[in-house]
Amino acid sequence: MTQEDQLKSKLNFNIVSLDKWLPDFKKPLIISGPCSAENEKQLMDTAESLLKTGRVTVFRAGIWKPRTRPNSFEGVGEEGLLWLHTVKKETGFLTATEVANPRHVELCLKHEVDILWAGARTVANPFSIQDIADSLKGVDIPVMVKNPVNPDLDLWLGALERIHNAGITKILAIHRGFSTLRRPGFRNEPLWELPVELKILCPDLPIICDPSHIAGRRDLIPNVAQKAIDMDMTGLMIESHINPENALSDASQQITPEELAVILARLVIKKPAVFNPEFNTILDQLRTMIDELDDNIMRTLASRMEISEKIGRYKRDNRVTIFQLQRWKEIVKRRVDAGEEMGLGRNFVKQLLKLIHRESINRQSELINHDDKEP
Ligand code: PEP
Ligand code: MN
Repeated sequence: MTQEDQLKSKLNFNIVSLDKWLPDFKKPLIISGPCSAENEKQLMDTAESLLKTGRVTVFRAGIWKPRTRPNSFEGVGEEGLLWLHTVKKETGFLTATEVANPRHVELCLKHEVDILWAGARTVANPFSIQDIADSLKGVDIPVMVKNPVNPDLDLWLGALERIHNAGITKILAIHRGFSTLRRPGFRNEPLWELPVELKILCPDLPIICDPSHIAGRRDLIPNVAQKAIDMDMTGLMIESHINPENALSDASQQITPEELAVILARLVIKKPAVFNPEFNTILDQLRTMIDELDDNIMRTLASRMEISEKIGRYKRDNRVTIFQLQRWKEIVKRRVDAGEEMGLGRNFVKQLLKLIHRESINRQSELINHDDKEP
């Protein structure tokens, strides 16, 4: 049994499909609402405008906010649950909020919140998730599990398993991007291959994409949302606010309900291929993984060239030749052996290294010629 098969057999989740418990479920499921509940008017105005779009099923609002730094707005607390209840009564939306501990769960149940979610910071901590799971035993409520802050699929799976083991069967995962050292322009790098791996391991688990927390900027939201649709994700969670500029949290990534309607109207929903939809979905997902990996290769090559130029300057300043045979031999030997261990052909790695090395040498000599000519 391969490692993946072993994992798969353990993840025999019993998940109730969305059409069994969501009124009029159709893909993509849209979850929207402010990052935080701030006051009753902000919440009601946002909800009423969202209702007019006719596209939203679940209204989200954070009541307790996990803020990176203290003395930021940390949410309104229990009072906000009363406002959320009014939204539910007045608009008919299902309501959802984040819980980080058993006390939050207890209050949400008391105030009849419809759906709970565990946030990225909480999911990164198995103690917290286990506490939440324990407080959910015997309760029949849908739970959404965000991916942990760090790119660790096992941690995400672990949280889903803990919630599932507590008896929860209406489970969704939320892909909200990952904190990485690279800064490719996103607040949280999407690393699309992780939700794809999750989908392969748990085909019945609906995965919702959260373009707001991936993008961190409102102008990037449409592209991320489209990509999520292209990846055949089940739905989108997008933060909206009646007055986004003045939001007390995540102001730069929130949009108005009207802007949400425009983004949703422009989404291109792909038609499933006539002959074999499943084949095409998997092919698309694999191709997206390839695109992502190729982007990473390009970024890595660009960083390598930058360092190689630094080395070039350093060698020049110390009057050392550009090409050093011993070093080159070592590079080739080590990389070819390492590549072979990873299943890459020796000749392929050799040719690849030659190409990279040739470009490095060219850059280093160009740089010396160019710098020499400087007055
Ligand atoms: C949120 O949804 O407002 C939130 C705090 O998200 P995350 O846990 O993904 O950071
Ligand atoms: Mn937020």
